Amino acid sequence: MLLQNERELVVEYGKRMSADRLSTGTSGNISVYVPEEGLLAISPSGIGYFSTQPEDVVVMDLEAHIVEGARKPSSEWALHTLFYKNKPHIRAVVHTHSMYCTTFAVLGQPLQAVHYAIADAGAAAVPCAPYYPFGTLELAEAAVRTAGDSGAVLLGNHGLVACGKDLAGAYGLALNLEYVAELQYRARCIGTPNILSAEAMEDVMERFKSYGQPDGKKTGY
Ligand code: 13P
Ligand code: ZN
Repeated sequence: MLLQNERELVVEYGKRMSADRLSTGTSGNISVYVPEEGLLAISPSGIGYFSTQPEDVVVMDLEAHIVEGARKPSSEWALHTLFYKNKPHIRAVVHTHSMYCTTFAVLGQPLQAVHYAIADAGAAAVPCAPYYPFGTLELAEAAVRTAGDSGAVLLGNHGLVACGKDLAGAYGLALNLEYVAELQYRARCIGTPNILSAEAMEDVMERFKSYGQPDGKKTGY
């Protein structure tokens, strides 16, 4: 089976995404890209995360040719492949409909630096792309264009896309941003949050480079 390890990772993180309540039902999708092979392993469309087996995960190339797998790939394959084409350093993409991120996506408002953890996105804010229907090239193009240098983007009236140098990183970013979005929501319920300055955020991004243990393994900020 091609990309066995990556398929197993997609299955494992799908279950996490459900258990951590970043996904309801079959919403959201996950992929891992292996540039040496020019292939990605992507979650199948519309299969519950606790029912998905490694053989259900689809292996495809960046031009959407299915290389191995009997299932239909995620309807958001264009979103995933376009991010890999436009951000050559990334190796994983996680898309969620998590509640607080999607609340701001419904408002068409960015996530702001209400907490320094947003620096995990490599930017001081996470912008929101305009609405396009799920599974369309227009959605994929708007998401990549709006993300710019940010490692994450909100999808208008839809959800979140988080990218990472590996699946742990992309998933950790999706979790961190849900935390930031919840804080932004809660803070706005009772007041006006202080937004960290661009300068303060540059400083945090610098500090994140040496955060945690020297082997680079960390579980969050
Ligand atoms: P898939 O089940 O096809 O991955 O679709 C879920 C989703 O979130 C669409 O945007
Ligand atoms: Zn979606």
